[in-house]
Amino acid sequence: MSTITASTEQQVVDAVEKRLYIGGEWRAATGGRTLAVEDPSTGETICEVADATPEDAKAALDAAVAVQAEWAAHPPRERGEILRRAFETIQERADELAVLMTLEMGKPVAESKAEISYASEFFRWFAEEAVRIEGRYAVAPNGQGRLLVMKQPVGPSLMITPWNFPMAMGTRKIGPAVAAGCTMVMKPAQQTPLSMLALAQILEEAGLPGGVLNVITSSSSGSVMGPLIADPRARKLSFTGSTEVGRKLIEQSAQNILRVSMELGGNAPFLVFDDADLDDAVDGAMIAKMRNIGEACTAANRFHVAAPLAEAFAEKMADRMKQLRLGRGTDEGVQVGPLIDDNQRQKVQELVEDAIRKGAKPLVGGQPANGRGYFYEPTVLASVPRDAKLLREEIFGPVAPIVAFDSEDEAIAAANDTEYGLVAYLYTGDLKRALRVVEGLETGMVGLNQGIVSNPAAPFGGVKQSGYGREGGHEGIDEYLETKYVAVNL
Ligand code: NAD
Repeated sequence: MSTITASTEQQVVDAVEKRLYIGGEWRAATGGRTLAVEDPSTGETICEVADATPEDAKAALDAAVAVQAEWAAHPPRERGEILRRAFETIQERADELAVLMTLEMGKPVAESKAEISYASEFFRWFAEEAVRIEGRYAVAPNGQGRLLVMKQPVGPSLMITPWNFPMAMGTRKIGPAVAAGCTMVMKPAQQTPLSMLALAQILEEAGLPGGVLNVITSSSSGSVMGPLIADPRARKLSFTGSTEVGRKLIEQSAQNILRVSMELGGNAPFLVFDDADLDDAVDGAMIAKMRNIGEACTAANRFHVAAPLAEAFAEKMADRMKQLRLGRGTDEGVQVGPLIDDNQRQKVQELVEDAIRKGAKPLVGGQPANGRGYFYEPTVLASVPRDAKLLREEIFGPVAPIVAFDSEDEAIAAANDTEYGLVAYLYTGDLKRALRVVEGLETGMVGLNQGIVSNPAAPFGGVKQSGYGREGGHEGIDEYLETKYVAVNL
């Protein structure tokens, strides 16, 4: 990829709507308020977008409620075809969408493109699922009467997404909701509203009727979404974000007994056993750690390596990390972009300082990078002590802490020693061990001899405090369907 010019950057920003999308119309926020979108590689403002008020949010829910019945009755094939057309448009515009995403989120353009491809695949997948919503018909056990089971859309759904995957976290919710026949109010993260606005434009072009998807961008999430969660017309809340905010939203949702899906934080262990292929494990570790600059809920947060391999693993990781090129994501050859903001960078720095103070040895990195933007040096910490905070907390940055273990039981116990349970990675050449360990891991997903698990055809989600519900796979559409049973008297 060659460096993207400033005029190309300006063009992609100019092409995006900056207003709210409500009831099929683009409109300014009430009172004309706007919020600034920042480029994390410079700290400069890229543009301003509408800053929704609670009144705007209510108008968005009004619009979603108004067309719910009509949308539910829309032929499934047509719902699927809208998604299919949007999938194709996203693919066609991947280059521009990638530049836009990089500008607001920071990751290198090649990674933004990978996310856009992943994001679009949810539309292709759910286009195919839309026509496979099935119920059942059975003879009652006593032979008298019949049992009819049908699936119906849940109804108007509220959606809240984080900044780290600005498009994929949206398509993972919008895809199944469109397929199932639900209408939506979507609120993207305030740091990255542009990718979601561009997505809404694409869905509009693809023929999604007005009111089915409503997008509100806002700097005050709680005050715009709170009243919607409390509104009895809303039927579902699907949230991706931190466990801390998710917990609050579950409490708020209890009032209306909303259907709730929660994709929350993670603290993924990456286990390397002494029978693993070391080079394969390092390749997988680099992906699991460095994808999205370490800012992924699935990022390997800690590496537990069999004692005989621990030193060699740490050295190889340090070698690979040293070679990575940091920089603005639109510059040629850049592999690591900035963190999302200064708060995130400070949090990473505090965790690294705590580990070093307690005895961890930095092999490479260990501090923020000089200059503008929120860059942090790719870091490897060896011999990390068990009481280091970064083994317990989500790092969300390019930092790889390494701990040695002596036995399989110790490795499983260490992996599970966290309140989170999203994903774990495991490298071993022994099939029996692989299955034993997989069964012992308290996570919703496992990467077995591979450093990435995300796949639109698979059920993505966590256990413990990483949340509940699944996105993607056949399970993904169930989150947007209710089951109705009819007792038939024959
Ligand atoms: P966050 O929880 O701070 O914010 C997520 C979203 O919630 C944003 O849109 C934000 O504006 C909104 N929000 C914040 N407070 C709110 C409130 N009181 N009411 C309503 N909405 C509110 O998370 P983040 O910093 O944007 O994202 C990072 C977190 O997301 C990490 O913990 C990461 O692990 C998690 N994440 C999880 C998954 C998953 O699938 N499990 C995927 C991506 C990210």
